[in-house]
Amino acid sequence: MIQSVNSVPAFDIKQQYASIEAEVNDAVMEVLRSGRYIGGPAVQDFERQFANYHNVSECVACNSGTDALYLALRALDIGVGDEVITTPFSFFATTEVISAVGATPVFVDIDATTFNLDVSKVAAAITPKTKAIMPVHLFGLPVDMTALMAIAQTHSLAVIEDCAQATGASWNEQKVGSIGHIGCFSFYPTKNLGGCGDGGAITTNDSAIANKIRILKEHGSKARYIHEEVGVNSRLDAIQAVILQIKLRYLDDWNKNRQNIATYYYQYLSQIPGIIPPQELLGGEAVWNQYTICVSSEERNGATSKYRDWLRTQLQDQGVNTMLYYPLPLHLQPVYQSLGYQSGQLPVAEQTCHQVISLPMFPELTQEQQDKVIYGLKDYLS
Ligand SMILES: *Cc1c(COP(=O)(O)O)cnc(C)c1O
Repeated sequence: MIQSVNSVPAFDIKQQYASIEAEVNDAVMEVLRSGRYIGGPAVQDFERQFANYHNVSECVACNSGTDALYLALRALDIGVGDEVITTPFSFFATTEVISAVGATPVFVDIDATTFNLDVSKVAAAITPKTKAIMPVHLFGLPVDMTALMAIAQTHSLAVIEDCAQATGASWNEQKVGSIGHIGCFSFYPTKNLGGCGDGGAITTNDSAIANKIRILKEHGSKARYIHEEVGVNSRLDAIQAVILQIKLRYLDDWNKNRQNIATYYYQYLSQIPGIIPPQELLGGEAVWNQYTICVSSEERNGATSKYRDWLRTQLQDQGVNTMLYYPLPLHLQPVYQSLGYQSGQLPVAEQTCHQVISLPMFPELTQEQQDKVIYGLKDYLS
């Protein structure tokens, strides 16, 4: 589809590259000339910098956020017969890995304004089979980790934080990914810290877990060609590592821009009837990987997405591009039919899927563009 010159993209990762092009090109060329393409100092340096940024002792880089989550579960020996409590409102990777290790995802409904796991409902979902809780800091909004860690401690459960959309966010001044037992990050290009390809990492203060993951991610081998376990091949490329080292230095500035945009959006959108803007909890510092609103109207039928879909089309016609995260909750995905969830069972997540629109959000979004988004919504909703 051809976009008009004035259209506002939902995101634009080319601008970020352009702003640091010379620095990135130099670093990439240096790797190309070095011949060290896998592992080596580039990856080790990035791991140390990422651990320092999070104030944790250990970081292990890997091939993707999905692998980070998978490796975390494997390191905790979670598998067949085990249950992991998580949210039904996330990207599929969150629960795909639970299934991939042979465990069962147990879904707990979400809170409507933060889009995150409703922590007050977690305790009721714990059974003798529960091994871990996997909170997702969705859209960059941190989960109430104080309440969640208290529940985990009471029931001796591990907490694996899915920080894929929240690099740099914090809860009570502590970075997400450093509060639970393991933090899992994605460096997919559109994430807050995005590489120029796939990448991921885990953070932890537990050196035994970190060492186990180092073995698992290298085909289960500590000494070359001696294999202790069935692992995977999951490495961060040296080229990605040097790009991420550079971008990590800009991350706080870019997140600050996202926060300013979120504040500006909130100021105006909270005045428009029919829009419920997202709100972070007191104690949380969000980093807004997405700025996702819920829309409703007098004639809205909460059971369908027609009104939301209509609104998205109108915005698109005005040149305001939006995204839809996510149209179908995880417990109702075809792949999970066998788990036996019924529609209506997790009503907040189900209704949210019908009402969400993710507005343009990236650090370089201009005030003019933000105004265009706000006016576009005002036109249709006032
Ligand atoms: C992106 C994402 C992942 C997976 O990360 P990849 O690097 O794409 O594998 C996992 N969980 C959430 C919430 C994500 O947004």
